[in-house]
Amino acid sequence: MKAIRVAQFGGPEVLKVEDIPQYKPGVGEVLMAVKAAGVNPVEIYIRSGSYARKPVLPYTPGTDAAGIIEAVGEGVSRFRPGDRVYSIGSLTGVYAEHSLCKVGQVFPLPPSVDFTQGAALGIPYATAYQALFNRAHARAGEWLLVHGASGGVGVAACQLAIAFGLRIIGTAGADAGIKLVADQGIQHVLNHQDPQMPEKVMDITGGRGVDMVLEMLANQNLGVDLTMLAMGGRAVVIGCRGKVEINPRDAMQREASIIGMSLFNATEAEIQSIHAALGAGLATGILKPLIGRQFPLAEAAKAQELVMAPGARGKIILVP
Ligand code: NAP
Repeated sequence: MKAIRVAQFGGPEVLKVEDIPQYKPGVGEVLMAVKAAGVNPVEIYIRSGSYARKPVLPYTPGTDAAGIIEAVGEGVSRFRPGDRVYSIGSLTGVYAEHSLCKVGQVFPLPPSVDFTQGAALGIPYATAYQALFNRAHARAGEWLLVHGASGGVGVAACQLAIAFGLRIIGTAGADAGIKLVADQGIQHVLNHQDPQMPEKVMDITGGRGVDMVLEMLANQNLGVDLTMLAMGGRAVVIGCRGKVEINPRDAMQREASIIGMSLFNATEAEIQSIHAALGAGLATGILKPLIGRQFPLAEAAKAQELVMAPGARGKIILVP
C-alpha cells in the first residue's frame, strides 16, 4: 500500500510516496482504510525537526483521518469491518492508504458526515473544545474573541461557541477568510491585520472587553489580547510561533489569566468526553467541518506548504 514516508527531518521535499507492506491489527487495534486525511500545522513543525516531540525515523505523518474499518484485532468489540470512523491519533500515521490505530483513537462517523469532513475533526475540533470548555471554562452569554477564526481550529471554535450561546467576534486576515467566518454565522468579523482592531473589539463589547480570547498566533498578539480582556478575562494560547512581549500590568488590572494549552496534555477521560460531545454535535448537524482544498497523497508537500501560507479558507485535506 502507498504511504508518505519521511526518512529525515527537513523541508517539504522530504515527504516521499513509497510502497510499504500492509499492516495487521494486533490486540486492541483496528486497521482503517483511509479515505481522507487532515493536514495540521503541527505536522509541519514535526517534519521540520523543530518540534519538541520527534518521531522515530522513518515515519508516516498525520493523526486526523476518516475512513472505513477494514479489520479489527483481538479484543475489539466497539467496531466491525465496514464501520465508518474518524481518527485522532494513530500508531502508524494517516498520510497513507491504510492506518493502524488503537481502538481508543477512532470514533464513529455519522452517516451525514462525509470522509473529508471526518478528516477535519480530530485535532481542530478537539482543540477548540478543550480550549473553550476544559481550559477557559466558557459560560453561555460570555464574549469570545476567536483570533484566527478562518482556520481549522477557528472554524471549529466558532461552531461550538454558537451552539453554546457565546457572543462571538472572529478575525481573519483576508477578504475571503472574513467572508468564510461571516458565513459561519459570526456577526462581528474583523481583520487581524487592521491596527484599529482592538478599538473595534472594545466598541463592539460596549467598552467592556471580551471574557475570552482563543489565540492562534500568540507571538504576535498576546500583549494586545490582554488589553482587550474584560475583568477576569482569560486568554488561551493555542498557537504560538515565537516570543512576545507583554505588560503584566494589563493582566493585573483585569485580574486576567493567560492559559496555555496543548491537546497532547488532554487526559484519556477528556479525549473520550470531547468526542462524545463532538459526536452529538455532528449527529445533530450543529458541527459542520468546512473543507478547503483537497490534494492527492502524492501532493502532500504542496498541501503542507499551503497550510503554513496566510489566507486560510477551510481545512486542507489529502485524499489517498
Ligand atoms: P490553520 O488552519 O492554518 O489556521 C491558522 C489561523 O491563524 C487562520 O485563521 C489565520 O488567519 C490565523 N492567523 C494568521 N495570522 C494571524 C494573526 N496575526 N493573528 C491572528 N490570527 C492569525 O491552523 P489551525 O489548525 O487552525 O491552527 C492554528 C494554530 O494553533 C497553529 O499555530 C497550530 O499549530 C496551533 N494549534 C495548537 C494546538 C494545541 O494543542 N495547542 C492544536 C491545534 C493547533 P488568516 O489565514 O485568515 O490570516
